Amino acid sequence: MNAAAFAAWIRHTAELVSADAGRLTRLDAAIGDGDHGHNLDRGFRAAAEALPDGVPPGKVLMAAGRSIVSRTGGASGPLYGTALRRAGKAVGDAGDVGAAGLGAALRAALDGVQELGKAAEGDKTMVDALAPAVAAYEAALADGSGLADCVRAAADAAAKGADDTVLMQARKGRASYLGPRSVGHMDPGAASTALVLRGLADVAGEG
Ligand code: ADP
Ligand code: MG
Repeated sequence: MNAAAFAAWIRHTAELVSADAGRLTRLDAAIGDGDHGHNLDRGFRAAAEALPDGVPPGKVLMAAGRSIVSRTGGASGPLYGTALRRAGKAVGDAGDVGAAGLGAALRAALDGVQELGKAAEGDKTMVDALAPAVAAYEAALADGSGLADCVRAAADAAAKGADDTVLMQARKGRASYLGPRSVGHMDPGAASTALVLRGLADVAGEG
């Protein structure tokens, strides 16, 4: 994937988030404070509007991360911003990111989210979508799959991971204040993470 493909991902994700902001906000209204869709919509819109031209993929990702940190409210802003900046750092100065490079970037994003938020799998957060996505990506890569197939596997695993948060009790973030009453609802951050990875699969499939 070159810089234009990463920029296309951010723009496409901004559209997906905008189209689904109502659902994300409803999920957050059930177990949080009902701002997740609005938060991410503002963040990704800002990132899409401030994409730099003529820079390598790593710089596109870092710029998007900075926009998201500065414009996304709530806990998810710093978490998404860290994920994108760490991914950008992992990619370095490469002009084109291959399947292994993108896998390393996704792993770095997950590590960044976990270092900042201290959530483990099962805590009912975005980690429950991102961790299985990274694992599925790495498994597909180890099987010899190309980038587009690895990303599709990651997106499918993220969607399943988000679905699986319904039965979990939140142990991190605002939803954890609800204790057992957080069970029975999908985690909004896991839902949005599945959306972001679906967006990546959409653009990775375009070549
Ligand atoms: P806030 O909770 O501050 O209103 P958002 O509504 O934008 O922020 O985002 C909520 C989402 O952030 C949650 O659904 C969860 O996925 C994610 N989240 C919250 N705390 C953490 C954490 N410590 N680690 C990982 N993800 C977290
Ligand atoms: Mg919220």
